[in-house]
Amino acid sequence: MDYLSTRGGTEQLPFCQTIITGLARNGGLFLPAEVPDVRRHLADWAKLAYADLAFELIRLYADDLSDSALREMIGKSYATFRHAEIAPVVSVGNLHILELFHGPTLAFKDLALQFLGNLFEEVLSRDNAELNIVAATSGDTGSAAIQGIRGRQRMRIFVLHPHGRVSPIQALQMTSVLDGNVHNLAVEGTFDDCQDIVKALFADLPFRDRYHLGAINSINWARVLAQIVYYFYAAFRVMEKTGSAQVRFSVPTGNFGDILAGYVAWRMGLPIDRLILATNENDILARCFESGVYRSGAVAATLSPSMDIQVASNFERYLYYKMDRNPSAVAAAMKSFAAGGEIEVPLNGQGRVEEIISAARIDRGKTIDTIRNIYNDCGYVLDPHTAVGVRAAHELADTDIPVVSLATAHPAKFRDAIQEAIGTAVRHPAIDRLEDMETRCRDLPSDKEAVRNYIEDCLTV
Ligand SMILES: *Cc1c(COP(=O)(O)O)cnc(C)c1O
Repeated sequence: MDYLSTRGGTEQLPFCQTIITGLARNGGLFLPAEVPDVRRHLADWAKLAYADLAFELIRLYADDLSDSALREMIGKSYATFRHAEIAPVVSVGNLHILELFHGPTLAFKDLALQFLGNLFEEVLSRDNAELNIVAATSGDTGSAAIQGIRGRQRMRIFVLHPHGRVSPIQALQMTSVLDGNVHNLAVEGTFDDCQDIVKALFADLPFRDRYHLGAINSINWARVLAQIVYYFYAAFRVMEKTGSAQVRFSVPTGNFGDILAGYVAWRMGLPIDRLILATNENDILARCFESGVYRSGAVAATLSPSMDIQVASNFERYLYYKMDRNPSAVAAAMKSFAAGGEIEVPLNGQGRVEEIISAARIDRGKTIDTIRNIYNDCGYVLDPHTAVGVRAAHELADTDIPVVSLATAHPAKFRDAIQEAIGTAVRHPAIDRLEDMETRCRDLPSDKEAVRNYIEDCLTV
């Protein structure tokens, strides 16, 4: 399977090289040349355990990896999870909650980043190469990426987070990792500033080549790919349990990576009736799916910091499909967005952007209410990101089709919000343990040159 840039051009790469390259050289994102139709396999795949299902799905897109290498990689990646089922679906009242927080950092990003760490290791040792990963994080990506890469040969990781804008626990989860190949950089700015710096470093082709930069943000296709698996897994569990022939998903959304995986699963033929795109007050995506206008605004700090994003990098992949896979149209749209901060997305005959995606914006008050109500009614504690998704599903309920809400983080990671909602904290040993740990982090201004110099200094000693 070859991969193409959303902005066209002649660069076509096999899977392994796509993963190492990250962002296409013309600034576009990689997508597979074809999305396979898997409907004929669904009945068989419904019986598979998580790791076996992951193997069947990932091999379709990664045909330059041997089956044995892929199986081993998947085995190692999910052995670090605390739950035998990896991503269990639990019933909470009449809700189906897909628990994606049983990995090392208690957030859904572990499902993709544990895999990506093993994948990098395999490809780099095969090619006798090195990789210096540069990533921006709004909170959870950083720690999950660090856990995926720490202590590995041939790789270093530089993680930029917005100083003071990630929760204290999220900061500790990153800065308490002292492995020599891990560098935490606290940037004076927002997540979007961090992401702009990372994009600028990748756009600097001589720098990128000289220092073998690699990407681990959800612009990396392997992230999306690993996330497709749990849409299938959860759909099978819920269809089995309810007898329904279709499912609906509600997805707390920031960078559009997670919901894009659901969208690709739908394109592959998984019977998804609708994807609910749930945002917090940073609602560029919710506004876009309601009005067709994708326009960035200022980032506000919310109870769900991992969704405090105004420019959603993976949206470009969606645009590619939306614009009938016309890379020149995508390139033109991204260019006008870069210049004017706005894209007009074409509407369909019903005046909607997309039949399969509905959006809702859930504010602070509703988030707190939802955590409190579900706790009072069912004794189950939602983290604030998950609560945004649960509430959005509730507000858009117009069907008997079962809804799976993605639980993207464990509530112990967001102590203050939980305390405010239910008057008590939820604990987890992996979080309690962080408190007395030694930390390491470098403060830097929001400036590409400063970050560039820091990386250069580290790599030339
Ligand atoms: C990253 C994250 C999200 C948002 O996922 P995207 O792929 O960026 O849309 C939601 N919840 C949690 C807990 C996260 O860490």
